Amino acid sequence: MDLHTALHAHFGHAEFRPPQEEVVRTVLAGRDVLVLMATGEGKSLCFQLPALLRDGVTLVVSPLIALMEDQVAGLRARRLPATCIHSQIERGEREARMAAVQGGTVRLLYVTPERFRVAGFLESLRPVRIAHLAVDEAHCVSQWGHDFRPDYTRLGAMREALGNPPCIALTATATPRVQADIAAQLRLRDPVCFHTGVERTNLYLGVHEVAAEDDKEAIAARRLGEVGGPAIVYFALIRDLLRVEGSFRRRGLRPLVYHGDLGPGERKDQQARFQAEPAPLILATNAFGLGIDKPDIRLILHWQVPRTLEAYYQEVGRAGRDRLGSVCELLYLEQDLAIQREFTEWANPDREFLGRVSAHLAHLEPERLRALAADDLRAVFLGRNRHDGRVETCLRLLRTAGCLEGEFERDLAWVRTPTPDEISAWLPEDKRENDLRALLAMVRYARATSCRKRIVHEYFGFAGPESGCGSCDHCVGFAEWIDRELPAQRRHPVLVLASSGVRRGDWLEIQGLGLCEVLRVLDGGATPRVDVEVAESLERRSVDLRRTPWRRIDARG
Ligand code: ADP
Ligand code: ZN
Repeated sequence: MDLHTALHAHFGHAEFRPPQEEVVRTVLAGRDVLVLMATGEGKSLCFQLPALLRDGVTLVVSPLIALMEDQVAGLRARRLPATCIHSQIERGEREARMAAVQGGTVRLLYVTPERFRVAGFLESLRPVRIAHLAVDEAHCVSQWGHDFRPDYTRLGAMREALGNPPCIALTATATPRVQADIAAQLRLRDPVCFHTGVERTNLYLGVHEVAAEDDKEAIAARRLGEVGGPAIVYFALIRDLLRVEGSFRRRGLRPLVYHGDLGPGERKDQQARFQAEPAPLILATNAFGLGIDKPDIRLILHWQVPRTLEAYYQEVGRAGRDRLGSVCELLYLEQDLAIQREFTEWANPDREFLGRVSAHLAHLEPERLRALAADDLRAVFLGRNRHDGRVETCLRLLRTAGCLEGEFERDLAWVRTPTPDEISAWLPEDKRENDLRALLAMVRYARATSCRKRIVHEYFGFAGPESGCGSCDHCVGFAEWIDRELPAQRRHPVLVLASSGVRRGDWLEIQGLGLCEVLRVLDGGATPRVDVEVAESLERRSVDLRRTPWRRIDARG
């Protein structure tokens, strides 16, 4: 069967997208491959199609259970032989699936990187011919990336243990440094690199620099009224998210929320609703991300600067997978940088700190360690600062290396003390500096006075657009862009900024103008335009109430 026939037969697509066909051929030729394709361009096909065309099993490492469940469900719906094995599947079912893999009826086996830590997992793969290793979201392997997952760093060794099958690594965003790190960590041999660049012409990029936290809400409200959903508003802190949620609710909105303080069930529910509703609004921390599979996200606002430009571009990259116009804006308040500076410090405990945490755990008597509560351990090192994440960072590193096992208040156990070499490898000297530099790049983007896309492209090692990009706030006016790329019939406002029934003589409080008296109603009903007199200056203005947040002041009552 030739490749096009196979593409059509298995996936129902008429044509390959660039560079899928060439990637598939290179994978089938047994070469190691690094694929950098923007979100939504069709990375998965690059390993799924070859997996179906050759003997043996393609082992797919994916960072999230939800993500792999979705992919496997999609494959099975097309009657393709795929399965996944993870901790949320009960034991009997897990064993049945592994038996199917060993029996040769599965071509694609999805696992999380943590699976390799489970005793017996590697052994159970021994009788299986692993034809290929596919590492999805491969940037997680790198300390220099924005989503570092310590377990990914073990994949190079795991690959060797599996008999060195050829490897395909895939990601949407990786700086040249992260690309090099992926190749080194996964021990890629002379990899062929494919990339489609980072250009997303349908995304509008903009920044609103504000002078105070209070200014953000009006901007967000305006965009929710103009552009609407599906929309994501990203927050750095849960505290701010909850405050804004309250405020939106008082405006009559019913936003979904997603953050780390919600239980797993609730998070799943919120994500499912975001997936299912036609034009939802969700307020989220960066915990909401990898598993999102909604092609028509129209608006992504960042309430605070994210930690790196890479993280930012990954997050906004979720917008407009359907290739239609989508708006991505950052609300930039200089003070917010302090939050990210602190996150950077917490992500980088120094070696001495890690040494103290492991010495403390190593010296606790086994019974006391078993019963230890996470909060008590934090209190020993950090006092009452709930936000400082250094202890968690250390625990994650110790667990990944197998130095620590079990759960707090149940069966926590110390296995061994890490060697100084291990500690240096986990905490490279220049990591913190690198993180701060990455934050600086983000600031440079936020404060840019010229084309924003140029800055993004150059950051990822590509040439920027020659002249203006035509889709950032320095290259085009927002009104012009939105009328051209996102005509009103494609928008679904989630915040109705005005309701009808405004009458002459009413007093309104209008965003940006303050208190106003209505002189004339130009166009009533559902689309009110009014002439008003601004109380402060007695200036006359014509205002489109659909586009500006306002409220009625009940002067008569
Ligand atoms: P990524 O992993 O790059 O974000 P996916 O692999 O999930 O993207 O693919 C995104 C969407 O594109 C999926 O709905 C997939 O079915 C579709 N797709 C992939 N390849 C093709 C193709 N050659 N023709 C049409 N649609 C495709
Ligand atoms: Zn531009």
